[in-house]
Amino acid sequence: MSSSSTGIVHLVGAGPGDLGLVTFRAKELISQADVLVYDYLVHPELVKWCRPECEVFYVGKKAGFHSVPQEEIEALLVTHAKAGKKVVRLKGGDPFIFGRGGEEARTLAKDGIPFEVVPGVTAAIAAGAYAGIPLTYRNVSTSLVFLTGHEDPTKKEAQLNWRDYGALKNTTLAIYMGMGNLAFIMAELQAGGLAATTPAAVVQWASLGRQRSVTGTVATLADQVKASGLAAPAIIFVGEVVRDHESIDWFEHLPLFGRRVAITRTRDQNSELRDKLEVLGAEVLELPLIQISKDTDKHGFVEIMTELGSYDWIVFTSANGVRYFFEDFLKGFPDIRSLGVLRFACVGRATAREIEKFHLKVECMPDTATGESLADALIATGSLDSAKVIVVTGNLNRDVLVRKLEAGGAIVDRLLLYKTEKTDLAQDPVADDFRQHGADAILFASSSAVSSFAEQSAVLALAADAKLPLIGSIGPQTSETMKKAGMVIGFEAKKPSLDALIDGLIRNLKK
Ligand code: SAH
Repeated sequence: MSSSSTGIVHLVGAGPGDLGLVTFRAKELISQADVLVYDYLVHPELVKWCRPECEVFYVGKKAGFHSVPQEEIEALLVTHAKAGKKVVRLKGGDPFIFGRGGEEARTLAKDGIPFEVVPGVTAAIAAGAYAGIPLTYRNVSTSLVFLTGHEDPTKKEAQLNWRDYGALKNTTLAIYMGMGNLAFIMAELQAGGLAATTPAAVVQWASLGRQRSVTGTVATLADQVKASGLAAPAIIFVGEVVRDHESIDWFEHLPLFGRRVAITRTRDQNSELRDKLEVLGAEVLELPLIQISKDTDKHGFVEIMTELGSYDWIVFTSANGVRYFFEDFLKGFPDIRSLGVLRFACVGRATAREIEKFHLKVECMPDTATGESLADALIATGSLDSAKVIVVTGNLNRDVLVRKLEAGGAIVDRLLLYKTEKTDLAQDPVADDFRQHGADAILFASSSAVSSFAEQSAVLALAADAKLPLIGSIGPQTSETMKKAGMVIGFEAKKPSLDALIDGLIRNLKK
């Protein structure tokens, strides 16, 4: 886009927290943005969807700091849009519900800047769904009111009159930002005529693994919340519909609900385990032990590319390898047919998916996702004798695969396309959360994950009162590495698969 034309601002709702509740439109816009401006309560994972060259601004609250003043945020949006940029202004929940999205839209309209508003799942809607509180119910609640119980004492005079709301019949109240005023609000609603026995609830961190809720009545709720330690961000519900919570609450009954499970991220996009755990209700802490970057040296790349037609197989051991390979391949050869009759082999499902994106068939994939099994599977095809094979790897890959293939008769060329380096955990917020609070369990899905964890265990040492996690291993090889590292194994999966690892986790946490 030329810098002389005006850009655009997208005011985008990011939903209540759970990544699955982000709209397609939001995801699409984030991945195309030149500039991303986001605040507190936006899931940090969303920020990773933007392009590497996207400029990112965090304007929310941070411990010990004030958030960026509203006028500055608006100025930021206007300046970048005027410079021709595609700006995404990402807000928790919905941008037009207690999010000052209206103010931002007005400023943009006034300055003649094109803008779009993308709705999001607002916190009250999510809290109702995830706590089993239907916000309307035939003959019980026929209206729903969204209110702010703003805690800012300087704005007391502008506050709504809670007694008026206490007089409403057949109504569900959904109160945002009310935790600091909870006792006052409950008392005022009763003073306005609401029966002391009216059910009421608080739902904190709705839709996330760390969701907590408390239910009672308008007379008891404030004390219960105090005793339970629940705090913002939370939605307060008042109304007869809260009664259904016990019978239709599905989320808090999931097998891993309320459990904090740490996993190690040893591959760039290793989200399968995370997804599986979250579906079962766990709060997942993904410790990013290593980071993967493209190896710019690309040892042997040109030689292999010019001889591409002479190879029989190309073997990938990670999804990153596939991505980096095609990025470079497509720069040199705009036509996918230049791959000729090359056959594709890969280590596991995630890698296969990446290959299939190019409409290429994976002809060999082992049942167990290890280099050894991949070599065995390739040998079993009976096609390796004097075959020329490219193995795409990173700097840390073990040579077992290559050695086995060579022993099987193949002529192997290694193509080193990426580098694996340690992440600086001292600066990482997830690592910090782990150090401070620990977890119920930590799962290791590979022996290399154990090694990187052990290497950095000093930086990950738990605080004195942190919860000591149960250690889970995916299989004998991983357990062996654990023993060598002096780790105490809590349990080992019955077979080496993610599902068996999770089964083991559920069984062992119940004990
Ligand atoms: N625009 C947002 C609301 C921003 S105001 C939306 O549409 O949801 C911030 C308040 O939203 C918090 O104080 C809390 O009351 C509520 N909130 C946001 N995320 C929440 C969550 N995951 N669970 C419960 N309440 C949440």
